[in-house]
Amino acid sequence: MTLTPEPIRLTGTIASYHAHVYFEGPDQRAAAERLRTAIAERFVVRLGRWHEAPVGPHTLPMYQVAFETTLFATLVPWLMLNHQDLSILIHPNTRFPRRDHLRDGAWLGPRRALLVERLPEDAPEADGAGVANTQPARPLPV
Ligand code: ZN
Repeated sequence: MTLTPEPIRLTGTIASYHAHVYFEGPDQRAAAERLRTAIAERFVVRLGRWHEAPVGPHTLPMYQVAFETTLFATLVPWLMLNHQDLSILIHPNTRFPRRDHLRDGAWLGPRRALLVERLPEDAPEADGAGVANTQPARPLPV
């Protein structure tokens, strides 16, 4: 297979990140709940609502954590150590939702299927992190 050279992309085109926390069955849901609480206690993020059934390109129940690019270096290592075997997709938000999810994201735990046809190739603008809805009380270190 020959790979076509692609232009270098700038990290400044990443407006925010999402971490999608997937769960399957009551044990994993309980783990996802503990993780959600632990995130809220430590990080200024926007926690999305619980999706108890697959939604959009996602093939399992999940919730989304939207966060600013400045948080990547602390939140992602923390998730690496604390994902409790849950599948988590961490993806950039640029103007290209399809490749953000399918090509350019990183997985913790087992990789899960995504529905390609539910992801637009491009979007008028990249999703920002939105307004944070957590108020961490704990001091660092996380
Ligand atoms: Zn997402």
